[in-house]
Amino acid sequence: MKKNLETLCIHGGWHPTKGEPQQLPIYQSTTFRYETSEQMAKLFDLEEAGYFYTRLQNPTNDAVAAKINALEGGVGCVLTSSGQAANFYAVFNICQAGDHFITSNNIYGGTYNLFGVTMKKLGIECTFVDPDWDDERIEAAFRPNTKCFFGETISNPGGNVFDIERFAKMAHKHGVPLIVDNTFATPINCRPIEWGCDIVTHSTTKYMDGHATQVGGAIIDSGNFEWDEKFPGLTTPDESYHGLTYTKKFGRAAYATKLVSQLMRDLGSIPAPQNSFLLNLGLETLHLRMPRHCENAQRVAEWLEKNPRVAWVNYCGLPSNKYYALAKKYMPNGSCGVIAFGLKGTREDAIKFMDNLDFVSIVTHVADARTCVLHPASHTHRQLSDEQLREAGVAPDLIRLSVGIENVEDIIADLQQAMDKM
Ligand code: PLP
Repeated sequence: MKKNLETLCIHGGWHPTKGEPQQLPIYQSTTFRYETSEQMAKLFDLEEAGYFYTRLQNPTNDAVAAKINALEGGVGCVLTSSGQAANFYAVFNICQAGDHFITSNNIYGGTYNLFGVTMKKLGIECTFVDPDWDDERIEAAFRPNTKCFFGETISNPGGNVFDIERFAKMAHKHGVPLIVDNTFATPINCRPIEWGCDIVTHSTTKYMDGHATQVGGAIIDSGNFEWDEKFPGLTTPDESYHGLTYTKKFGRAAYATKLVSQLMRDLGSIPAPQNSFLLNLGLETLHLRMPRHCENAQRVAEWLEKNPRVAWVNYCGLPSNKYYALAKKYMPNGSCGVIAFGLKGTREDAIKFMDNLDFVSIVTHVADARTCVLHPASHTHRQLSDEQLREAGVAPDLIRLSVGIENVEDIIADLQQAMDKM
């Protein structure tokens, strides 16, 4: 039976029958037992599906992956131990030394560093482009060895909206897939695959969990991209798997299968089953929390916009925002709870304001049930130079306010009293 998102949040992935636990059990076991060595050999040859070692597959992890896969509308989902691992694996599954990819420059600082510095050390080069440039300027970045295009649905921390349909068409025109990090919007507000995106990634640490209990990531394969000779890792025999060719053997699920059987096998980075259990509890209320985050953030953004102490506000739900039309197109029911704004005054004034807050807390985290703030230039993005900060769309005075699901009048009152004390 086809189910709506709300029902999938509760029932997706785990389908107990006949006296099985109603709640997803934590299979806290590294390994799984078989009666004959032949049974086990078939699993290693990828001839039969089954569990043998948790680094490759685990029933708790798989149930949660299946839920996220259903929410995003993919053919396969792989969970990772962090959002960083998800974005690394999503690209590394189709790029090797000597390859190149293109990314929006409006992305999370950690991803910016991963792509621009760490992957370069592996011989994978990337070009940062501003999604606001015209097509001609962006298309000039494609090279014969370009393997994918990457962007964030709503960028962290700038709050810019990525034009998924436009970049999916552009990527496909050049024969490569589009990868979208959908962390801030979540599938409740945007399903990138429906707009032509090929691979979706998540830091499940954020709204999906929602309670700051675990660090995790997810990669969802739409199954829609036609892998060709440009992607030999998928279309030619894998010597480390008895000459198996992923596209031939697994068809639409080739990308996700390779990711598990090759990258997870060789590099690890799986989530602990305990963490997947916690993530699943968060997912059960995602459809209730997201509308409340958006409703509260809308009120707070409108209040900030009218506030004489505020220099600027960036929230795509405000009609004055540059990305309002794109947000309405991709997220008609609301975007997320994260607002970027700047106060009039100096950098120190921003810090004083944050120090004056009561229950609104200063944390690195974002996209959580509790309202929290961060000054990226002094915290998450401090490894970036001023020039890189500007390139990544982060103003030095930018305060990232992640609006939670508390009473909105209380949130506004806390912001007000912190400003009054400045
Ligand atoms: N992608 C986005 C959009 C993020 O905001 C973050 C973290 O803030 C990440 C990826 C990295 O995720 P994690 O912290 O789970 O490794």
